[in-house]
Amino acid sequence: MTIPASNPLNALNFSGGPGVLPDVVLQQVQEAIQAVPGVGLSILGISHRSDWFAAVVSELEDNIRKLMGLPADYRVLFLQGGATQQFSMLPMSLLAGSTEPADYLHTGYWSGKALPEARKVGPVRVLWSGESCRFRQLPADDELDFNPQAPYLHYVSNETVEGLQFHRVLGRDDVPRICDMSSDFLSAPGDYSRFAMIYAHAQKNIGPAGVTVVVLRDELLANAPDDLPAFLDYRAQIAAHSILNTPPVFAIYVVLLVTRWLLQDIGGLAEMDRRNTAKAARLYGALDASHGFYTGHAAPADRSKMNVVFRLPTPELEAAFITEARSAGFSGLNGHRSIGGIRASIYNGLQLAAVEKLVDFMDGFRRRAPAP
Ligand SMILES: *Cc1c(COP(=O)(O)O)cnc(C)c1O
Repeated sequence: MTIPASNPLNALNFSGGPGVLPDVVLQQVQEAIQAVPGVGLSILGISHRSDWFAAVVSELEDNIRKLMGLPADYRVLFLQGGATQQFSMLPMSLLAGSTEPADYLHTGYWSGKALPEARKVGPVRVLWSGESCRFRQLPADDELDFNPQAPYLHYVSNETVEGLQFHRVLGRDDVPRICDMSSDFLSAPGDYSRFAMIYAHAQKNIGPAGVTVVVLRDELLANAPDDLPAFLDYRAQIAAHSILNTPPVFAIYVVLLVTRWLLQDIGGLAEMDRRNTAKAARLYGALDASHGFYTGHAAPADRSKMNVVFRLPTPELEAAFITEARSAGFSGLNGHRSIGGIRASIYNGLQLAAVEKLVDFMDGFRRRAPAP
């Protein structure tokens, strides 16, 4: 079949989520809507009980293991309910009945959303909160006094709304580390075997909404309760190989295509990180060279390589910026509704050329803006 030329507007999509996907992936998805190569049926009508889908799940698990360098005692699950369901599913397995509080970091909007869900299930201690600094910076090591008895430590590696990212692994090796990596999953290599569990929905960096990847060490579940609803029980999901009920076949297939792209076209996470670092450096460089016209939200040491959040001198200029950017073909640049301003999300699928175009636009806008 013939594949039409790519859509140029996709290349300039700076949306915070669902995020942009690589063009080669979109082209394969388009083909799969009609007929999956080798199968002949539409991806939307293939049985989740087919051998083909079993092979998809198995290849995707392998690809994630390979990309992240995970040892054999990790399970890789594809679940539904988004990252939000993990905010509850996790404490239901690991916190119910505990007298010792779990350690939670409150570093921004999304880690804040995990707190009330955990508190419904068991005791929680907020180890550190960035509320008083309006979530502009992350804690230093000497501000963190981890509880060695905690059932687990929970934090968010990349705060998508505020554009803050940890550039190190937190916590103690004798307390299970659990991390929501929804907005920086598979963006860089890391010491992932130091985490007892990592979860990430697909729709920021690795696919469409509908599937959440959970990577966890078997032993983590040794004392999980036996009376959980099967759907919310990691052990039941492991036993069913992520096919406890009808899984999101389409979303899982798209994530498989993204992992193939990471392995084969990009060449792995080290190269992905090199590209992400270059994009972020270009954009933060433009903020820093703007003589205070564009001001970054995050403290420089905690700047995210995925979400670049900044403000202009006035709300009127911000509105004009968004409008003019839209006419120039850019989309998704408005900040999250909770903090406003501008957010340029530069996920894996967004190319350096798009960032160069945005920087050109920003320089032009600044020069045209009325003097204060
Ligand atoms: C977007 C986001 C969420 C929310 O995910 P849903 O899939 O919509 O539940 C959670 N955590 C982080 C870090 C996010 O960026």
